[in-house]
Amino acid sequence: MPPPRTYHCDALILKHIPFGESGLLVTFYTADRGKVRAVARGARRSNSKLVGHLEPLTQARLTIRRGLNLDDVEQVQAIESFGALKDDLDSITNGFYVAELVDGFGAENGANHPLYQLAIETLHAVAGESQPYLPLRCFDLQLLNVSGLKPELYRCVECRRELEPGRHRFSPALGGAMCLDCRPTDALVMPLSLQAVKVLRLLDRSSPGSIQPVRMGQNLKREVQGLLEVTLEYWLDFQIRSNSFLKDLNRESRSAVYT
Ligand SMILES: [Zn+2]
Repeated sequence: MPPPRTYHCDALILKHIPFGESGLLVTFYTADRGKVRAVARGARRSNSKLVGHLEPLTQARLTIRRGLNLDDVEQVQAIESFGALKDDLDSITNGFYVAELVDGFGAENGANHPLYQLAIETLHAVAGESQPYLPLRCFDLQLLNVSGLKPELYRCVECRRELEPGRHRFSPALGGAMCLDCRPTDALVMPLSLQAVKVLRLLDRSSPGSIQPVRMGQNLKREVQGLLEVTLEYWLDFQIRSNSFLKDLNRESRSAVYT
């Protein structure tokens, strides 16, 4: 039996770009299907009912009609428009930060319900929040966790010994913390202070919506954010590299068939 021509999904709208004369190509992250792109035809016309609900950073229930190449958005109903997030410039910047990373880490055709829930919880947590540092860093770390890229924070990734109090190192490529006795060849090894280990462990066992405030100096904030940024960038680059590797492979196998 062929699959039904339409389906419904709850999704977070991540972004859209103009498509054709009056349409929008919308990218959204769904609870059940991962990242999806679909066309909202006529959405840029002034009388369109679609466009308001398709604003980025809106949680919505969508009805999608399957197409040959691209699916069509048939109906949209806003579940949560995150008004407090969109009213404030800092909050909206933080919201787009979350959307960009969900776009980068979310796979097409791959359901990841924890990733969807994490994104929605983080947007609630940073909406109108004057101290968004900890919820956002918690999002960074939990994003790695729900993507199957959880960094090791308790043992040395090389010798597997438990980390003792003191200074350590951190390698995104090798998968987390290292002791000072191990001699990594990885160029991306960064210093890791004991305080930063403690904060990272706190982020690991918290969620953006319920993390307890902790006192952190500017240097420690910079260190933790830097470690997370480098790790997220490393995995995003890795993903881009493996995608282009797969594309090259497909191209080569196609040309091998046709030549
Ligand atoms: Zn070691």
